[in-house]
Amino acid sequence: MVVAIDGPAGSGKSTIAKMLSDKLGLMFMNTGSFYRGVTLALLRRGGSGPDGAGGKVPDLTDEDSIVAFTAGVPLDYRQGHLYLGEEDVDCHLRNDAVEALVAKVSAIVGVRHIVNEKIRAVSKSMGIVCEGRDMTTVVFPDAEYKFYLDASPAARAKRRFDQGTSSLSLKEIEASIAARDEVDRNKKEGSLKIAPDAVYLDTSDLTIDSVCDMIVSKIHL
Ligand code: C5P
Repeated sequence: MVVAIDGPAGSGKSTIAKMLSDKLGLMFMNTGSFYRGVTLALLRRGGSGPDGAGGKVPDLTDEDSIVAFTAGVPLDYRQGHLYLGEEDVDCHLRNDAVEALVAKVSAIVGVRHIVNEKIRAVSKSMGIVCEGRDMTTVVFPDAEYKFYLDASPAARAKRRFDQGTSSLSLKEIEASIAARDEVDRNKKEGSLKIAPDAVYLDTSDLTIDSVCDMIVSKIHL
């Protein structure tokens, strides 16, 4: 079974998908992690530290070379964590260097095709709750359950700021989220949009628990 959730950055998708997966006994999959893992690998190739900071920023205009490189990145997803080979890199994926580049890396169509195949392969062996930008529209158009979580830009920036994974100010986070939204909504493939058959929920003024309850009430196992 696939429970697919889409929505913009900071809409609460990850937290809610994780809670749902625990409640429903399904695997949780944060699909943005795959794009973040590719981005981290690209930054490391440019000589960055293990956390992605300090190296040469890759030339994303050379899409063929980025796609060829991505095909060789040993991405794996185990127990909610993204691995590069045998290394659990989850702790590096939300750093500013990765955050600044990931939307543009994920806009490359060939990169999306590689990541989509990995996601589908992992989901074959077990039921999942997955969240991302194109789960309900492209990757799992036939998912049994589809949700679109939204929230105001201010609420989303505040949530990211409160996570404490960024050294940016609240205002800078707001600008970075707006820049990512722009890229995410205008991708050639897999752009962020509301599937006609998805349940739409604005979470700006709702608690995580109440959103989770609303979703669970719609799922019949
Ligand atoms: O969800 P998260 O913020 O971790 O995703 C990081 C980036 O990866 C997003 O800004 C988006 O550009 C991209 N992404 C995507 N498709 C997905 C999941 C994430 O393009 N299914």
